[in-house]
Amino acid sequence: MKVVLSGMRPTGRMHVGHLKGVLENWVKLQENYKCYFEVADWHALTDEPTRNREVLRNTLDMVKDWLAVGIDPKKSVIFRQSLVPQHAEIHLIFSMLVSVNRLLRNPTFKEKVSELRKKKSEIKLSLNLENLSVEGEVGGIVEFIKGEDKEKGEKFLRGVIGRIKEEVLERLSFLDFDDSLIPSEISYGFLGYPVLQAADILIYKGELVPVGEDQLPHLELSREIARDFNRIYGEVFPIPEPLLTEIPKILGIDGRKMSKSYNNAIFISDTPEEITQKVKKSITDPMKIRKGDPGRPEICPIFYLHKAFNPDESYEIEENCRKGVLGCVDCKNRIAGKLISALEPYREKAGELSDDLIMDVIREGSKVARERAEETVEEVRRVLWSGS
Ligand code: SF4
Repeated sequence: MKVVLSGMRPTGRMHVGHLKGVLENWVKLQENYKCYFEVADWHALTDEPTRNREVLRNTLDMVKDWLAVGIDPKKSVIFRQSLVPQHAEIHLIFSMLVSVNRLLRNPTFKEKVSELRKKKSEIKLSLNLENLSVEGEVGGIVEFIKGEDKEKGEKFLRGVIGRIKEEVLERLSFLDFDDSLIPSEISYGFLGYPVLQAADILIYKGELVPVGEDQLPHLELSREIARDFNRIYGEVFPIPEPLLTEIPKILGIDGRKMSKSYNNAIFISDTPEEITQKVKKSITDPMKIRKGDPGRPEICPIFYLHKAFNPDESYEIEENCRKGVLGCVDCKNRIAGKLISALEPYREKAGELSDDLIMDVIREGSKVARERAEETVEEVRRVLWSGS
């Protein structure tokens, strides 16, 4: 059987985006491949080193959901990265094979740098504009407007300031990437995380890696490292291939990407009451105020949930939303019912799994992973030092 490697950072309870985007795929893969599913706990520290305090609890919650949806420890190796220290040795050796420039071109790294730069610029802009509003020319305008209609004047000015700020930030985020402007929060570990990822895959001689279209550049680096290692030291590693996976779009109830950190997620283990409440609270198309108003399903999180959990009716829902025949309350009630019945069996199963049982599964899987990883490390040491 071909070897498949995939993993996740320990983020705690899994939400319906994880279920549709990753876990359902893993459940299928384990029937036809030798799967290694990794709890990537070292990765969790690369952008936030103090996250160590949350890792154990998050790992237990996450793996509980993995098992609840059908990942089977008898078929797949479920392991914790930090319990297989061999990853660190391979990561170190691989780090000699990658240039800093190559890592600076990694799209995730660039995104993170832009995000931090944007955040910092935002703080500076707010401060400067605050100053402007109390003294100087803008301050004068405020005083004038205040005299006419204080509330209206302030609102107007804040609106103008807000628009200037948005415009400036937008432009800043598109500025050419300049590595001399890398924020100090970016660690050496974060820059090198794709090298650790390559070690995660190649240490098990992973041949296939399930990825979405946008993750292809990450896998490309692992492929380059495998090729370079084999060329310089000797054939050890297969060149991993992508197993392209379609990742359905699922939005959080506030319309942003679904994420625990945004507090907008519907979790696999949510109770029927929690699901109903969250669906009720979810935003929809803000232009659709009454049932008769035509809606835009493409901007509505509820519609994406229908597509994922109620595919048979999603065409009709799309049509009727556009025509203004369907109201948001009915539409939400329908998806809440579907979600409750789809998630109920997982919630029940998760309730039967104790922390001790999850710990045993992780310990056992990590032992199997360690043995396999050690075999690869021995091979690597042999070819690496064969001439010395
Ligand atoms: S009818 Fe449904 S899909 Fe359309 S905007 Fe309302 S909740 Fe969204």
